[in-house]
Amino acid sequence: MSIDFHNYVLLSQALSYNTRKYRCENSLSKRTSFLNGFALLLNGSNVCTVVYPWLKEKVILIARNEKLENVDRYYFDQFFSLIRVYSSMFWNVDRTDNQNDTFDDIKDILINLVNNFNQEKIMKRLFDYLFDDAVKQLLQVTKIDDNEKQQIINSVNTNVGIYIKNKSTTEYACLMKENMTVENYISFLLARVERLIELRDIIKKSRKNPLHSDIRKLQNNALLLYESTIFKILIVKDPRVYYYIDKISAHMRALNGLLKCFEQDQARYAYIYREIKWRIINPHERCVLLNNGPTNVFRMLWSNLFPDIDPEETVNNVLAPNLNKQYDISKTLDVCVHCELLLIDYLLKNQINEIEGQLDVEIGISKMSCYLCSLYIAELNKEHKRIFCLSDSTHGKVYQKWDFIPDEQQHLKQNVERVVIEQIEKYLNDIQLDQKQSGVKHIGDSDTLDIVGEINDVDTKYVLSLMKKDQL
Ligand SMILES: [Zn+2]
Repeated sequence: MSIDFHNYVLLSQALSYNTRKYRCENSLSKRTSFLNGFALLLNGSNVCTVVYPWLKEKVILIARNEKLENVDRYYFDQFFSLIRVYSSMFWNVDRTDNQNDTFDDIKDILINLVNNFNQEKIMKRLFDYLFDDAVKQLLQVTKIDDNEKQQIINSVNTNVGIYIKNKSTTEYACLMKENMTVENYISFLLARVERLIELRDIIKKSRKNPLHSDIRKLQNNALLLYESTIFKILIVKDPRVYYYIDKISAHMRALNGLLKCFEQDQARYAYIYREIKWRIINPHERCVLLNNGPTNVFRMLWSNLFPDIDPEETVNNVLAPNLNKQYDISKTLDVCVHCELLLIDYLLKNQINEIEGQLDVEIGISKMSCYLCSLYIAELNKEHKRIFCLSDSTHGKVYQKWDFIPDEQQHLKQNVERVVIEQIEKYLNDIQLDQKQSGVKHIGDSDTLDIVGEINDVDTKYVLSLMKKDQL
């Protein structure tokens, strides 16, 4: 069965049938934000990284689809060493001003380290052509006319309390702590937008070798905009702009969120992280035989559904343009176990079961799970009576390079396979009804932070320090 299953995976990817894209509401919890941020910072330019803090052993379990490179090991060693130093400093009760400077120094080194390791990804996000429209819209924000601006000022002034209630916003830092007038604050926001665009242009010109300080300043400006409620009014809640700002500030917000957790919840985080180590779970890759070959499997499915209709027209028009012929010829496919499954397998095999609060197992992930992982994790949860909370969150895509956990029980595989076949059949029925010929929906690359929303609260102190230290 498992040999043929990969034919269905190839067909699912080629047909891009619509699966439900949904988010896990739990992902808004502080702990998940913390863990997702952690995973993002360790991801670099890789496909995906997952983390799980094994509290008893004070070790962060890390899994990736692919093998770790030396550069990753070096980065992890440095990153974790700084995290240990940073969190252990909270255990010194007689902190002096000098030590506060040390906090800033370590944070400074960490930001440079994180940005260096993740630079390729940050640059990719910054100049992704899919965001060209968002950048144009952002430019429009700076051209707001005086009337419109005055209307917003009046509206904010009549109810300014609402905007400064949340300590995690840029408004709280600027209007409350810095006592800016609303008018000045809106000018401040517009200046941030202009500066962001200016820095983007500067970085674009020196794209091969951009100044780290420019990237950092751009992220700082984006972070202030992302955490501003009034900025959302200025962009008329245009999701494209907000999504872009989200993307380009994600690493900085993740690091801020992480460090803030050590400070705010010392008993829970700093205590453990002052001794934290990391451990990688080995990837699992193999080459599978495709038995019949995907096109023949497609013909079989089609003939079962519509015995009187020749499948060849659909094969040629719908399947062939999206399926690499090579798989029918070689009948082999390289697959790997996705990192969240590697991690769950490790937790199950080592009987790691540290229940915290309502949730059984929360895993930090740098992007949302794929469709097959979400189906499979739901089955694993039922089978093992666990709550691996990644199960109810997926971006809905199917990837051909996907595999079950080695030696998985047959009935679990069959349950996943059944759903996959049902989806393909549903799609074929729709084609036959001529309802979906042109309605193929491709869902974009989806990093966790895209959908998690207000994942990492901005640190008021940090916002204030940015304004004073020429960091914008
Ligand atoms: Zn997956």
